[in-house]
Amino acid sequence: MATTVTAPERKVSAAEAREVAEAAREQEWAAPSFVRDLFLGKLRMELIHPYPESAPDDAERARPFLEQLERFLRDKVDSDRIDREGEIPDEVIEGLRELGAFGIKIPREYGGLGLSQLSYMKAIELVSSVDGSLTALLSAHQSIGVPQPLKMFGTEQQKQRYLPRLAKGAISAFALTEPGVGSDPAALETMAVPSEDGAAWILNGEKLWCTNGTRAEIIVVLARTPSKFVNGRERRQITAFIVETDWPGVKVEHRCHFMGLKAMYNGVMRFTNVRVPQENVLWEVGKGLKLGLTTLNTGRLTLPISSVAAGKRCLEIAREWASTRVQWGQPIGKHDAIAQKIGTMTANTFAMEAVAELCGAMADRGGYDIRLEAAIAKLYNSEAGWRIIDDTVQIRGGRGYETADSLRARGEKPVPVERIMRDFRINLIFEGSSEIMHLFIAREAVDRHLQVAGDVVLPGKTFGQRLRGLVRAGLFYAWWYPSRWLGWSYWPRYAGFGPLARHIRYVERGSRRLARSLFHAMLRFGPKLEYRQAVLFRLVDAGAELFAMAASCARAQWLLHKDPATGRRAVQVADLFCRQARARVRAKFQGLWRNDDVPTYRVAQEVLAGEHRWLERGMVELE
Ligand SMILES: Cc1cc2nc3c(=O)[nH]c(=O)nc-3n(C[C@H](O)[C@H](O)[C@H](O)COP(=O)(O)OP(=O)(O)OC[C@H]3O[C@@H](n4cnc5c(N)ncnc54)[C@H](O)[C@@H]3O)c2cc1C
Repeated sequence: MATTVTAPERKVSAAEAREVAEAAREQEWAAPSFVRDLFLGKLRMELIHPYPESAPDDAERARPFLEQLERFLRDKVDSDRIDREGEIPDEVIEGLRELGAFGIKIPREYGGLGLSQLSYMKAIELVSSVDGSLTALLSAHQSIGVPQPLKMFGTEQQKQRYLPRLAKGAISAFALTEPGVGSDPAALETMAVPSEDGAAWILNGEKLWCTNGTRAEIIVVLARTPSKFVNGRERRQITAFIVETDWPGVKVEHRCHFMGLKAMYNGVMRFTNVRVPQENVLWEVGKGLKLGLTTLNTGRLTLPISSVAAGKRCLEIAREWASTRVQWGQPIGKHDAIAQKIGTMTANTFAMEAVAELCGAMADRGGYDIRLEAAIAKLYNSEAGWRIIDDTVQIRGGRGYETADSLRARGEKPVPVERIMRDFRINLIFEGSSEIMHLFIAREAVDRHLQVAGDVVLPGKTFGQRLRGLVRAGLFYAWWYPSRWLGWSYWPRYAGFGPLARHIRYVERGSRRLARSLFHAMLRFGPKLEYRQAVLFRLVDAGAELFAMAASCARAQWLLHKDPATGRRAVQVADLFCRQARARVRAKFQGLWRNDDVPTYRVAQEVLAGEHRWLERGMVELE
């Protein structure tokens, strides 16, 4: 089927895009945030230590479901077939429905399993360890599809109407992206206008890459609604609607196909004069983008845990292969280059699990603002997971590049590393690309500074505003700045962490250095800091490493307490992770002020201007 997708010309300025994003931000920090304080130079271990765990009654209720799910995945799911045929067999979808896998977090009074975020993540971990397309199906439905925003923002009437259907397995989806709208939602073109009788909205537009779209019964659609005018200035409004796909005017234009996740039911959706009843507005008119972002605070935790699953699967594959494959007279795992990879992937898998489960438990426990933690989990785990998979392909050598079917056909074990790699790559792009996650974290990390010194450093302020801002900032920084130099982070602080104590002390020193560096960067670059993404990204990466270190130490300590034999191993692995992370943090700090960002940017701009097309000579010219 032909598709009509073309990227429209951009009509939204950078300032407007920023304004829309700012309007959708959660402005308040009502609850404590470990990472926010970390970026402000304050290590609050008490927020994550003792490492939070799932509520015993929830874990008890989740156990039979997780056991059945595990059996089902082992006995009934053939991932090579799903990959080969690009379809999830109906009996697999039906089986998942019967298990309740479409309503894991939907409260029991609406027919769901009523389990916690952490139990949901444990289910996703099992699913992801077997098949990425199934993860996409369940996660697009439950992380960002209809149930989650409905639970958080729906009216009781909406919940009564839709949650039981969704829990039974009515597949749902989330539609934001359009041909001209990717990371930046300001340019949204899908439009909803009030109907003449005022009882409904008339929806028109086209959505791209809607996961589950081709099979969904119910979709959350984000659309522009008529702008508001505040003091004569236009304020773009984005609103979320619950749309049923059997309503007149909803059409799947095209099923999209990708590098991996071959059985993902992803499509281009067209909405032509779709009449959406007034009562299907989710939350409030104009709150659509905020709804999307808030939903993602927990929605984003699916990818971090599926990255953990990928890490564990790779560890298993690498362990088996590197201990049996003999080259140059010994198992390849004895060769230093391969052993280094295996040691590192072990450390990183442990840290990824520490980060993901910590965020899940914080979400369940409540009383935390986890927007930064979740964003780091998404960014950190998807990037670390990708590196682990890359190393696993290398460890498997030629077999890492060969498909499972081909391996099987010539009598070898069908280890699907090639498929894992294809399926995984998208994790660095969707649900907030790595670049957008960096920017999101950076924005939130500088928030306190902008509150204090925004009038001084932001463009467009009057002389009076700047002057008042200068006095306010002066008073704040007179205390804050010296205190980011002082602090006791040497022996014997955190002695309770045993051999890991020195790493926690490093995190504390690192946190203060991070806060100072952020401040120095603001002084040095002023309003231009937002354009110095390479600088900002180094700061974010350093913060992410420090968070992962703290989470890993807290988790190792918790394991030690629960099961000393495993715990001792965990402490050893956490120690390795922290040693390696410290080296990365050091490099990030060093790179802040000594780097090649400017000449690199210059060459890139010259490339974009066509000045280096000489380098492209020698290729066969394609259309
Ligand atoms: C398989 C798949 C499934 C998807 N599922 C859904 C879904 O269910 N629902 C939905 O609404 N969307 C979905 N998407 C869309 C997905 O969320 C977007 O692809 C993603 O948001 C990135 O948008 P884009 O691809 O248009 O990239 P662009 O926004 O065009 O970005 C291109 C590149 O530029 C970078 N970039 C953009 N802006 C900046 C900036 N300011 N600074 C630095 N770098 C920047 C990006 O990180 C990226 O690397 C899906 C996409 C795919 C491929």
